[in-house]
Amino acid sequence: MIEEHDHLIIYCSILGGEVPFQYCRTLNENLPCRKIIICWEFQIEIGKFLNENYSFDQIQQVLAPPTQTRLETILELIEKAKKIKEEGA
Ligand code: SF4
Repeated sequence: MIEEHDHLIIYCSILGGEVPFQYCRTLNENLPCRKIIICWEFQIEIGKFLNENYSFDQIQQVLAPPTQTRLETILELIEKAKKIKEEGA
């Protein structure tokens, strides 16, 4: 049952206050916070909880490193544009 740990409370270093597990497992568009394993590993069987309640893709999405920054995207686009220009010349 996905709600089984919802009543547990933990100190959140990001918010600087206490939050219930229910918050940690839903704050990311209804998916868990990316730090959920680190924060909860000593309180509950967090790996088991994730396995039982989320698909592999969902877990990957949650734990994946942040995507490119805006600057990296812009630089990549500039590189591509340069290449296209060179190829066309
Ligand atoms: S899992 Fe996320 S929201 Fe929950 S305590 Fe850790 S950092 Fe805060």
